[in-house]
Amino acid sequence: MYAKRLEKLGIYTFKDFLYHVPFRYDDFSLISKIGSVQAGETVTIRGEIIEISNEYTRRFKKIQKAKVKDESGEINVIWFNQPYLLKTIRRGDTVSLSGKIEKNLNNLVIQAPVYEVISKENPETIHTGRLVPIYPETRGVSSKWLRRQIYNILKSEKNNISDFLPDEIIKKYNFLNLYDALLKIHFPKDHLESEEARKRLSFDELFLMQLQVIKRKTEWSKNIKGFSFKVKENKEKIDDFISSLPFKLTNAQEKVLSEIYLDLGKEKPMNRLLEGDVGSGKTVVSAITMYIAYLNNFQSVLMAPTEILASQHFNTLNNFFSPLGIKVVLVTGNKKISMQDLDFSILVGTHAVLSDKIDYKNLGLVIIDEQQRFGVEQRALIRKKGNNPHFLTMTATPIPRTIALSMYGDLDLSVIDEMPIGRKRVKTWLTSPHKRKDAYKWIEEEIKTNKIQVFVICPFIEESETMTTVKAATKELEILKKQIFPNLKLDILHGKLKAKEKEEVLNNFKNKKFDILVATPVVEVGIDVPNATIILIEAADRFGLSQLHQLRGRVGRGDLQSYCLLFSESKGEKTIERLSALQKIYFGAELAELDLKLRGPGQMYGTTQHGIPKLKVASFSDFDLIKKTRIEAKALFPKINSYTKLFNKISKETLKEVSPD
Ligand code: ADP
Ligand code: MG
Repeated sequence: MYAKRLEKLGIYTFKDFLYHVPFRYDDFSLISKIGSVQAGETVTIRGEIIEISNEYTRRFKKIQKAKVKDESGEINVIWFNQPYLLKTIRRGDTVSLSGKIEKNLNNLVIQAPVYEVISKENPETIHTGRLVPIYPETRGVSSKWLRRQIYNILKSEKNNISDFLPDEIIKKYNFLNLYDALLKIHFPKDHLESEEARKRLSFDELFLMQLQVIKRKTEWSKNIKGFSFKVKENKEKIDDFISSLPFKLTNAQEKVLSEIYLDLGKEKPMNRLLEGDVGSGKTVVSAITMYIAYLNNFQSVLMAPTEILASQHFNTLNNFFSPLGIKVVLVTGNKKISMQDLDFSILVGTHAVLSDKIDYKNLGLVIIDEQQRFGVEQRALIRKKGNNPHFLTMTATPIPRTIALSMYGDLDLSVIDEMPIGRKRVKTWLTSPHKRKDAYKWIEEEIKTNKIQVFVICPFIEESETMTTVKAATKELEILKKQIFPNLKLDILHGKLKAKEKEEVLNNFKNKKFDILVATPVVEVGIDVPNATIILIEAADRFGLSQLHQLRGRVGRGDLQSYCLLFSESKGEKTIERLSALQKIYFGAELAELDLKLRGPGQMYGTTQHGIPKLKVASFSDFDLIKKTRIEAKALFPKINSYTKLFNKISKETLKEVSPD
């Protein structure tokens, strides 16, 4: 029963328990004699229970009253609605109680304190009388329960936890050893100790990540031999293709392409990450790359995370390539591939491209769009479909360079840092609640006079789209339809619609069949509707800056001036300051860095969506530490055979069942 609940917290092993670190501590470290406590203080007292009983009152169903004494005096204790307490705490027990002292008439009373019965064998307290760790919890798994388990594991596994960091590094940075760090992050004497512990464990976390990246990079460069493409020899054809495009490439696109050309010419397969803001024109870069594969008689595959994106890419590429007689084929969950299409030159699709039924004859190039949406396994799978094909992964996620190097340091990085000419900046306004009406009025006028279209993005509720999210969006649609825009046409897009329905909605929107598309945040990736020039984002404070930036990239895709309206009910100064950044900053990577600096841990929106993995202890905003760990990992890597050995010393036994204390 517990195992299932713990899964939610990502706890499967003893080790996971130890690395389930507190996000704060309750300060119960002031220990006082009963005779000297004062009203208003939060204290810990220790004494003997001389009375305890259940009493019934009108206001509270049941209260528990007790009296505790030590050598300096007595005090009343009161709890609310915890009748079972009488089974745990009995007359004569020695207890430690932490809580606030209140004045009740003329008597002092300690109200609803945290309690802990102390035995002679085990005089150490873990829930009271100290800094008490508070953990991320889930239903049925309280901090108190976690604390007990972690404490027990720390005691029982002490001899199984040996340090893996080389002594030189520990000395150099004056780190705690691993056991002490784990002990002190959970049960510190003071904040200084918890900070020391955090410092050591943060280092470990980033350091191991760096080692992993270096390992991947080393393996890639050592073992693999692919095909070198002829690029120079095809220069004329490539140039012709580029000049046939309806626009001139930006300098940034050209720079990135020259990096790609160099890679393609090598036998060692390309492994490149192409980062560029939404709308910066990554697709055409990938198309040119695919064209080169075609000229070299190799097949290409482009894998996209959603059906919508896949079919959008298919249309774009088909427009480019069908005049040249190049066969482009689409495959998704709903659009199966037919036998006579197996001779494709370019295959576009969702993860359906991984299907065993598709027989790649000579796959030479793999392109992955919005790569953060795919797991490592899927990337490995597609790689195996060819004989070490060239690899180009694309992302609009503005990953700060420091992080990109750490996370994706095994990839080479190309950045498109310039938007196509003529693209106007999306004017962004943080709209306060009392301007809501005016904003709606203005939107309606814009739609009527300029015949533009509008996105309304519903609040970010949960990371993955559930019925709650869908309901919220449906409700929003109803309100807008009935109360705000009765004269306009509206429709809705959310993740629970069938692929066909989604496509229909999107096509209708593209074909201007309706004015306003209400959408959930999770379906946002990559939609291209140039006539949509206004995006309204509800509860903007719930999003990260990068997310907002990506959302606003849905508009401003044509020549028309576009607008992004950020709605927020929040009055917090910090929130307003954070959101205002979008009014001034238009470069994704810059916003991403700022986001990391401003966002503390424990925010409700995670980073997983962004392709930046979740960290347990460390923070990606700690650029100094990231750099340090990178340097140390580089220095250490050649000296170790298998870094995994290092980290597996803590008991790895899978948790089958844990019983509560
Ligand atoms: P993203 O990088 O978000 O994938 P796309 O590749 O979808 O961006 O490009 C966005 C739009 O910009 C497309 O309509 C595309 O045709 C257009 N585009 C791409 N490159 C240029 C350019 N150099 N000049 C003008 N328009 C461009
Ligand atoms: Mg794209």
